[in-house]
This record gives sequence, structure tokens and C-alpha cells, in this order.
Amino acid sequence: MRTYQGKGVYGAIAIGRISVFKRQDAKVRRTHVDDASQEIARVEAAKELATQQLQEIYEKALKEVGETHAQIFEVHMMMLEDDDYNDSIRNLIETQSVNAEYAVATTADNFSEMFASMDDAYMQARAADVKDISNRLIACLGGAGNAKDKQTEKMIVCADDLAPSETVSLDKDLVMAFVTAYGSSNSHTAILARNMNIPAVIGVGEEFLKTIADGMQIIVDGYTGEIILEPDEDTVAKMSKKQQDDLRKKALLQELKGKENVTLDGTKVQIFANIGGVSGVGAVLANDAGGIGLFRSEFLYLESEDYPSEEEQFQAYRKVLESMAGKKVIIRTLDIGADKQIDYFKLDKEENPALGFRAIRICLTRPEIFKTQLRALYRASAYGKLGIMFPMITSVSEVKKILEICEEVKAQLREAGVPFDEKAEVGIMIETPAAAVISDLLAPLVNFFSVGTNDLTQYTLAIDRQNAKLEPFCDTHHEAILRLIKMAADNARQHGAWIGICGELAADTSLTETFLRMGIDELSVSAPFVLPLRDTVRKLDLSK
Ligand code: PEP
Ligand code: MG
Repeated sequence: MRTYQGKGVYGAIAIGRISVFKRQDAKVRRTHVDDASQEIARVEAAKELATQQLQEIYEKALKEVGETHAQIFEVHMMMLEDDDYNDSIRNLIETQSVNAEYAVATTADNFSEMFASMDDAYMQARAADVKDISNRLIACLGGAGNAKDKQTEKMIVCADDLAPSETVSLDKDLVMAFVTAYGSSNSHTAILARNMNIPAVIGVGEEFLKTIADGMQIIVDGYTGEIILEPDEDTVAKMSKKQQDDLRKKALLQELKGKENVTLDGTKVQIFANIGGVSGVGAVLANDAGGIGLFRSEFLYLESEDYPSEEEQFQAYRKVLESMAGKKVIIRTLDIGADKQIDYFKLDKEENPALGFRAIRICLTRPEIFKTQLRALYRASAYGKLGIMFPMITSVSEVKKILEICEEVKAQLREAGVPFDEKAEVGIMIETPAAAVISDLLAPLVNFFSVGTNDLTQYTLAIDRQNAKLEPFCDTHHEAILRLIKMAADNARQHGAWIGICGELAADTSLTETFLRMGIDELSVSAPFVLPLRDTVRKLDLSK
């Protein structure tokens, strides 16, 4: 028996036998060609075939994992048409008189290295996509398509890494779980795994790959990220019990879908989910959240190489609003600085970044960025029920300035005849002690508050949230934090504003009763916590 540690990307347990993933690795040899134009014509024909295959995979993914996650295959089709990618292939054939397969493989190496060397984790993950489309193209050049060994038994698939198209091509009925030696939790593969409900652990390490063979017994714990190879009988018995308990719990939670978030005495609360981008919506819907309580819009900026345009932002916001079909979507304006740095913003290095030039302070100092985002948001408001939320508020004057800018943007849209929702709500995050303390002055200015307990804890307890060493000093239930939340809740109610919590504390079920007694109207949590939280709410009795 041996154990390995990786990162669980979907919480579930599987016990079964290994199928080592076999990829049709295209062995590419360099050969000399005399007729470059004929080679280029072969590439064009292969591209057509590859696009056809990707379209089929896209349609399969659309059915199995939904539109948001199927989009990666649309991106693959676009990558196949990318000018730089195609120019590189053509140039290699023309200038070096090499065969098409070699030109594609060399281009794939160059492009994937370029992506892999970028600082941004999202761009790094694109290296796998370039390799994926290039392998397909090479297979199509040989007329072989993307043939794979067909599995016939239900197995636990183990691989070095899985490309998104490989993940989605796995026959879900035959795959119990998957384990990869490499991979990042930011990759589409991990995102797809979560959405396909397949227990998955990534980043188990190279040593694991050297040890495994087809048919070996293995246990995958997607909760802890632990992999147990050739387990002894006691371990199998212990993990089988954990698996049964888990399945029972999940089955019970599924029954809560469609049910109300209401306590035994009739107190209702909204349970929403947090997302970081358009791709998060699938999980929000799958977990039956009542809305989106926090869309961290800065991820759109973090995933871009330059400022995302108004149009790009509008499309993303609109997509989320349309997918939520009239349910409330709270989009938070740009919250960068501190731990979220973006090169193209060219922010100065600071001694105390958490107390520095961040979030709304950047937006108010660089109004052109802020107005672009607000225009995109208001335009998108015509497509659903939008709430716009502002981070890192500390004063009344900031909020007044923000509202002035909102009015200016709305007036421009009105004048240009662009439709938007005049009733779109505006709210602020209560994530500084200052905002909580003056919440009586802030509440009359806005429609809602949302408590960001992650930062509120950091600033109240003077504990840098990035510093793991301070963990023992960080009492998330500290009376000071709870008092500040209560103060904000009382003031919200008194002035007709609603109040939610969107920081991690919202998912802490040991505090749910406290929050409901304070009069919190909404709790916004990571999607997998929606049903467990509903379960807790439905068992509470506040009349006692
Ligand atoms: C918070 O501070 O609690 C919050 C929700 O925002 P973020 O974690 O993005 O800072
Ligand atoms: Mg915050």
C-alpha cells in the first residue's frame, strides 16, 4: 500500500482499478518536401476535419456539461483559425521545406512554451490547449482522426495530464474517477471535472506515474486529495464506509433542490452563490442557488492581457445575467490591488498593499477604467436582474462620488438610447471596520450591503489574510467581527436596505443561526455549499 497526495478538484470518493490513459501520441518525423503548396493544402484539409471533430465534441459537451463549459471547444476551433498559429505552420513549410506534421508539431512546441512561460496562471493553462489542437491536427493529417483506445469496463483513469477535449471525450459511464500527475486547479480540465461530477485529483506527482499499471487497485479521495495505491483490506473497508456515508449525504442533499430556504419557524433567507467568471454559472445552477451574490469581476481583468473592452465585459455580464434567467446577479466592480496584481495596471510596489491603492481607490483615481466597466454593467442590466456592488468602501464621500459617476454613465446611455434597467440596484461591500461603524450613514445611500468577512476579519483583527503564520491568531468568530456585522444589519434594516454576507464566513454553518437572528437577508457561498447551507437553515428554529 502506498499513498500519494494531490489536490482534489471534485469532492467524492472512488474505489476501483486503474486504466492508464493511452494517448495516440503522434510520433512526428521531419521529412523534406518539394511541393510546399501541396503540404499547405494538406494542412487546410486536416483543419477542416479537425474542426468537424471539435464541433461534434462541442455538441457532446453541450449536452453533458452545459454551454459555459462546452465553450472551450469553440475556443479550440477559434485557435485553429488563429493567424499567428497558421502563419507559423505555413512559414515553416515554405522556408524550411518540411512536412506538414513537423511544421504543426514545431509550432505547437513554440506556442505552448510561450504560454507556459507567462506569469498568469490562466495563460499557462492555455499551453495544454495548443498541444491539444495540434495533436488533433497531426492525427487528422494522417487521416486517423483522434482515435483512442476504447475502454469497456468502469475504471479509474490515470494520466500524466488530460486535455479538455480528452476529459470530455471520456465516456462518463465508464469512468469512476480520474487522477493526473500534473495539472492546475485553474485549468478547464479541473473545471470540467467538477461539472461532470467525476471525483478527481490532480497534481499527484511524477512518482505516481512511474508506479502505476493497468488493473492496480486504487482509492481516490477527492475531498482530501489522497490517493491510495494497492490498499490493504482495513483501508478498503474504512474508505468504503466513507464513500457510502458521502453518497448517502449527497443523495439527501439532492432532495433539497427546489425546496425553500426556510427555518422551522418560517424565517426565510436567500442562498446565493459566488462566481469568478462566466464559467461558474453552471455550478450555480446545478446547486440550485437562488442567485449570484458575488461575481468577482476582477477575474475578467486577471484573465486578460490588456484592459478588457466595454464590449468584452458587456458580453460576459450579459451571458451571466441571461443564464440566470431573471434571478438576481450581484456583480462587484473591479477589486484589484493587494494580493490581486495585474501587470498592465502598472501599479507601484507598496509597503502595505492590503492597506494600499486597491479596489475602489483605483477606480476613483482612474475614472476612465471605472466608467468603461459601469457602461458595460448598465448595458448588461437590460438582460436580467442586476445589482452593482462596490468594494473596499470606507466613507460617505466615496459612495457619493461613485453614485455621481453612475448617474453620469446612466445619463449618457439614456441620451444614446441604449436600453438599461433604471431600477438596477446599487450596493456596497461592508469589509472595512469603518464602513460597518458608519453603516447608519451609508445605508440611506444604497439598496444593499454585502459583508465581505474575509477582508472585514483582516482589517478588524489586524491579521494579514495572506500570512499563513497568523492562522493561530485568526478567530473568525471574534466578537468584534460579529458585532460589526450586527451593527451593519441593524442599520440596513432601519434604512430599508437589504443585507447579505458574501465572505467565506457565510458558509460557516455554525454561525447560520447567529446570522439569521441578526436579520441577514442573504448568504452567498461557493456553489457546493448551497445545499448543505439550505439543510442547516431548514433545521433551525428561531422561535426558541
Ligand atoms: C471579502 O473580503 O470577504 C470578499 C468577499 O471579497 P474578496 O475575498 O474577493 O476580497
Ligand atoms: Mg474583499
